This record gives sequence, C-alpha cells and structure tokens, in this order.
Amino acid sequence: MTLFIEGHSCSYELQRIVQMFFPGEKVAVVPSCTGPKQKPYVEAVLSGGKAAVLWVPEHGEPLTAPARGITQDAPKYEIEHLLGVMLYSLLSKATGLRPQWGVLTGIRPVRLLLSKMQQGLSGDALHADFVEHYLVSESRFSLALQTAEAENRILQRSTPDSFSLYVSIPFCPTRCAYCSFVSQTVERAAKYIPEYVEKLCEELRYIAAIASDLGLKLRTVYFGGGTPTTLDAQQLARLMDVIGQAFDLSDIWEYTVEAGRPDTITADKLYAIKNGGAKRISINPQTLDDRVLQAIGRRHTTAQLMQAYALARQVGFDCINMDLIAGLPTDTQEGFQNSLDQVVKMAPENITVHTLTVKRAADMTFERAKEQFGLVTGMVDYARETVIAGGWQPYYLYRQAGSLSALENVGYAKPGSEGLYNVYIMDETHSIFAAGAGASTKLKRQETGLLKRVFNYKYPYEYISQFPEVLRRKDLIRAFYQGD
Ligand code: SF4
Repeated sequence: MTLFIEGHSCSYELQRIVQMFFPGEKVAVVPSCTGPKQKPYVEAVLSGGKAAVLWVPEHGEPLTAPARGITQDAPKYEIEHLLGVMLYSLLSKATGLRPQWGVLTGIRPVRLLLSKMQQGLSGDALHADFVEHYLVSESRFSLALQTAEAENRILQRSTPDSFSLYVSIPFCPTRCAYCSFVSQTVERAAKYIPEYVEKLCEELRYIAAIASDLGLKLRTVYFGGGTPTTLDAQQLARLMDVIGQAFDLSDIWEYTVEAGRPDTITADKLYAIKNGGAKRISINPQTLDDRVLQAIGRRHTTAQLMQAYALARQVGFDCINMDLIAGLPTDTQEGFQNSLDQVVKMAPENITVHTLTVKRAADMTFERAKEQFGLVTGMVDYARETVIAGGWQPYYLYRQAGSLSALENVGYAKPGSEGLYNVYIMDETHSIFAAGAGASTKLKRQETGLLKRVFNYKYPYEYISQFPEVLRRKDLIRAFYQGD
C-alpha cells in the first residue's frame, strides 16, 4: 500500500493511522501525487488552503471526503491533526472499522492524558479533548482515566536517585509463534548458559559498584527475558545471591522474577527465587485452551499451569501475575472468555491482558484483519469489564505498533499489588540498568527529561565473546550521571 502526500510533510502520523486500519501492512510513503499509481493507495494533500484525502482500493470505487480549509502556513501539528482526522474518518467509512484510540497513534496514551491533566485540563474539557478532538472512544477514555490515577501514584514515588535493575535471561524452552523477543530455545543455546550466568554475575557486580559510587537507590529488580526459569535452581540462586551481596536491597520496593512458562517451574526453582528475595512472580498461561497452546508452539498444558500456580502458592508467593493474550491464532471469543474466567477464579494479584501483535503483513490479510477486529475488540472488552468487576484496577497501559485492532495491553492489579517496574519502564520514569544479552540500559535525568540508551549485545554468544566491551559500555552510566 502507498501513502502519497503533497503540500506537507506529515508522513509519520498519517502512515501510522493507515496502519491501524491495515495491521501488518507495509505502507510506503511517496512525497508526490503525480505519476502512475498502483492500487491500493491513499492520498493526503494540502493545496490552496484546502486539505483533501482520497482512498483508492484495489477493487471497487475510490472514496473521498469533503475538503476542509486550513492555512498553508498553519503549525505542523495542526495540519497533521486535521489530515489525520480526515483520513481516520475516510478509512472508517471505507472499511467499517473504528479503532478505539481514534487518531492517537502513540504507545502511551495515558502519558498524554497525564500531561493534559498537568496542564490543568479536567472534567468535561478533558473528555472533549480525548473523545471529540482525538476521536477516542468513551470506553478507552474512561480506561485511560482510571489507569492514569493509579499510574500517577506510582510515578510520584520515584525520586531522581531511584533506579531499577533489569536482568535478561534470553532463553526459552521453545519459541512461541508470536515471539518478538531476542530469546533462544534451550535446544539451540544450552551450551552457552553456564558461561552466560558467570558473565552476568560479573556484569551485575560491575553495575552495583557504579550505582554505589553514584549514591543511587535500587527500587525495583526485574528478571525477564526469555523465561528466567529456564535456568536451573542453582543458577537462579547464584544470580540472586550476587544481587543480594552486591546491591543494597534494604530500600527496595519490588523484586520480580518472570517464571513465564509453566513447564519450567519446579519447587526447587520457586524456593531459590523466594530465598533469593523475590516477592513477585509472573506465571503466564497466555491462554487456558490446550488447543490454542499447541497452535502457538507452547509445549505446556493448562493442567501444568494449574499445578505450577498451586505450587507457587504453597511455596508462599502472595503476589503473582498472570498474562493472557487476546487474538491468538485459532482462539475464539468463547475460548478467550473461558480462559479469562478461569484466571479470575484463580485470583492472582495481577492480571495482564495483551493484544496480539502482527509482525509481518504476510501473517494477516485485510479480510482476516477485519474479521479479527470485532473478535479481538470483544475479547479485550470482556476482559476489561470482567476483571474490573472482580476488583482488579488498571494501573499501566501501553500500545504496540501492529497490535490487532490497534488495541492496548493493560496491567490490572488488586489495590496495593501493582507491578511498579512495569510502570517505570513504560513511562521511562527513572534509569533502568539492564544486564545480560539483548538488554538495553535506559538512563534518565529526571530534572531535565534527558534520556540515553546503552545497548548490550543481542545474542548470548556475542555477549560472552564481547564481554569486555559490555563492561566498557557500562562506564557510560557513570559518565551520564556525572554530566559528561
Ligand atoms: S515465552 Fe516469551 S520470550 Fe519465550 S518464546 Fe514465548 S513469547 Fe518469546
């Protein structure tokens, strides 16, 4: 698909709006509307004080919207907004779809809401801004508002000397069909694991020394990946011992280990995690339908999930998160509702509901996307209503490019059990020092908003072979805080 633009340079936002209607579709931007055009395409033109949009499908009649007046020298954001609204309305009419977040294409709509509130907008004015100006649906406006209140409380806790620690374990038992992480199957990467753990311990000690010199306060620790419980109990215990010895954990607010795949969870690993100091774990079913689990390449069953959950409770974990995904291949509305109802019955402290993301256009034809639109919206709406009615509250929300129906991922929590790290990483509130392959450190100066990223090598073999460079890059943390 091509997006032709003329008379302006608002390609990025308009491209994202087109992609909301055609998930996974590659939309090429061409800065001229003259010359031969291959269908399907979209045109967005600013000429002679008028904005105009046109949609030409591969088959069928072209569709256009009445031109609207705007001065050629209006600020870019005004031109972008007007063309965006016109394009959204035109594509809604053409496809019959109405993406719930209107013309908001950003991944953090709640941050926008919070910034509007800080500017003094509230009540009807805030509602009008979101619902009428940005075309956000009533349900998403109300979800954003609820999330903003909880999120703001968590953000307020962070101070300029706060930081979080992320530990990357990029190994999994098998690869899920929808995976977009840098994770390798144990089958492929088992040989790297012992040395990887050793190097990781070294990197963690190195980071701890820098944090201590700078007088920073560790607030949250998060083991993610991958599936950290792919490691054995001794490896987990070793890493957590190193963290316990090297960092000052006395002022810590949260310590999470993702135990994502139920088939990796054993009693000795759970005890190692608990004795290592973690109080929060994540056990992620994604679906409780064995047929769907098979279809997405996860080699565990619902029975294993139930056992792993019961075991975690026995070991004494009283803060458990469970992830579900709406829109998984072969899942149905009934199947998703059944998964969600079972999770609600199990009563974990946190439930996170994701919307599946389409990675490539080849994975999704428009007809299929259209079919999925209503289905996935129904799933996500059912989840929101059921979970909130059950006493969980939304506390963080983000969107991903290419998510089905341009919907959101939402973390819900029983009051007081919110996953703080999730908010800090999403909002880029404070620095996250990240260790391990595929991890990226985010350095944040709260006073000025300055943000800098420092990347580690992507794959375990590179991380191990280039380890001196990994440590050298960590010195950038010191330089950042010392203002270099
Ligand atoms: S468990 Fe997560 S990281 Fe591992 S393969 Fe599946 S989606 Fe990827």
